[in-house]
Amino acid sequence: MQEHILKGQTDVSQIEAILDIVLNSSSPPVARCRLLSSGFAPHHTLNIEEDIAGSVACLGCGNCIDICPVLSREPTRMEKTAQRSSMALETLVAEDCDRCFNCVLSCPQVDTTIKHYIVNRHMVEAMSRLETRIGDEKEPDLDLYVEEALI
Ligand code: SF4
Ligand code: SF4
Repeated sequence: MQEHILKGQTDVSQIEAILDIVLNSSSPPVARCRLLSSGFAPHHTLNIEEDIAGSVACLGCGNCIDICPVLSREPTRMEKTAQRSSMALETLVAEDCDRCFNCVLSCPQVDTTIKHYIVNRHMVEAMSRLETRIGDEKEPDLDLYVEEALI
């Protein structure tokens, strides 16, 4: 563990039960993981007067939108809004979330401790779950996606 990086971040052992509930639900997890995080570190380099240390606000950076496989497979969903926030992600994906956790891993406002927990405890299961859906005739978009990825 790189303690110097993780200092001040959320201790996952204190939130593991609620975090698992978030990660096991079929809607975008990034906003709730952000809210469970510690927010801007005091040593941020933004050149602003306001003290934003600890703020867990969504930055509207769109990283979670860009990395979401549901939106990548079905880009027409993005016609509903030009916003690039976690609220937009929740509106556009809703209950169709693949539970791949890409949005959480790409969010600058989610603590490294939470990201490491997901990588170490949930990613193998997430990849296995997605693999079982390949070939499912109810999910032709997923098959097309895999075919394109293999070209
Ligand atoms: S990136 Fe993955 S976990 Fe996040 S909303 Fe999209 S499908 Fe769900
Ligand atoms: S990735 Fe960016 S837009 Fe998405 S929740 Fe995090 S800060 Fe907000």
